[in-house]
Amino acid sequence: MTTPRLDVRGVEHSYGTQQVLRGVDLSVEPGEVLALMGESGSGKTTLGRIVAGFEAPAAGSVALDGEVVADGRTFVAPESRHVGVVPQEGALFPHLSVAGNVAFGLPRGPARSARVEECLELVGLGGFGERRPHELSGGQQQRVALARALAPSPRLVVLDEPFSALDASLRAEVGEQVAAALSAAGATALLITHDAGEAFRSADRVAVLAGGRVVQTGRPVDLYDRPRTAEVAAAAGWVLKLPARREGGALSTPLGPVGLEQVGYDSGVEQGDLLVRPGHVVVEPADGAAVEVVSVRSFTEHVGLRVRLADGAELVVPAPRRSTTDLRPGDRVEVRLAGAAAFLAG
Ligand code: ADP
Repeated sequence: MTTPRLDVRGVEHSYGTQQVLRGVDLSVEPGEVLALMGESGSGKTTLGRIVAGFEAPAAGSVALDGEVVADGRTFVAPESRHVGVVPQEGALFPHLSVAGNVAFGLPRGPARSARVEECLELVGLGGFGERRPHELSGGQQQRVALARALAPSPRLVVLDEPFSALDASLRAEVGEQVAAALSAAGATALLITHDAGEAFRSADRVAVLAGGRVVQTGRPVDLYDRPRTAEVAAAAGWVLKLPARREGGALSTPLGPVGLEQVGYDSGVEQGDLLVRPGHVVVEPADGAAVEVVSVRSFTEHVGLRVRLADGAELVVPAPRRSTTDLRPGDRVEVRLAGAAAFLAG
């Protein structure tokens, strides 16, 4: 097994009587971008600060390349950790040029200006060195902040909500540029974000922080297909919650049974919520069937199909668009489940 670039074990932290981190375990492999996702106030920034060395953990340990930089006995100062930080708003030095900002953490010497230009190229801002920060857009400023963090070739870059100050319309584009720059630099990164879309777009793996712990870590597709909590499931995309009960090797639901082997994550409860993705729903027109179409709302490649079940209950079922294009209110359909993402305690 390779040594992780970053290894966080059992980290705890409190502010006064409020315990924010309750035993966080997290590791990032060399060259990997790991998104740390969680609701506002879940402790993401606190963990980022502990990793960068701006804060000492109350318990647990932080290691970089196998070297302990923080635990009960050791505390390595931030400047000796070789961790680059991109704060929420780039915090560029306004009186320095772009090149001056990027050069800030680099030793003086003949290679300095070449390294500055190389890093500006990496973030797609080659030739911008002479400009002043105020002559750049918000997205460009964030890319300069990333170039500045990458310039000294840090072991790890911590990006704390790097796009939160940008307009929503820009976020996806700048996010892609930043992800491309991190990958071109071969950088290892911890990307802190409350925005699931950002996490899923930009990261190789996503760790979800909730209740002071990492509740799940996995590739975006794993979190989509096998979420371990309802929050993770919802963060990863559209999900329908159905009451379900275990009956032998299957689960019974208002939309009929589904085999347990078709369920991504089974928490083991007898009775609870089945979390269903649009791809799990099979809809077929069938004259005389008990289920009636109430309305069809079209979004993207999925539609919200409101149906009335035989017992009169109504349900909005997420369904693939192709199976529902021709449906009209009043049509009769058969609705079946071909699987589910998770079966969790309700
Ligand atoms: P996140 O980044 O996930 O939004 P934070 O790590 O910033 O979460 O904060 C977690 C919790 O700790 C919040 O309830 C916040 O109010 C509290 N907190 C953060 N920093 C401080 C501080 N310096 N002093 C006191 N409480 C703090």
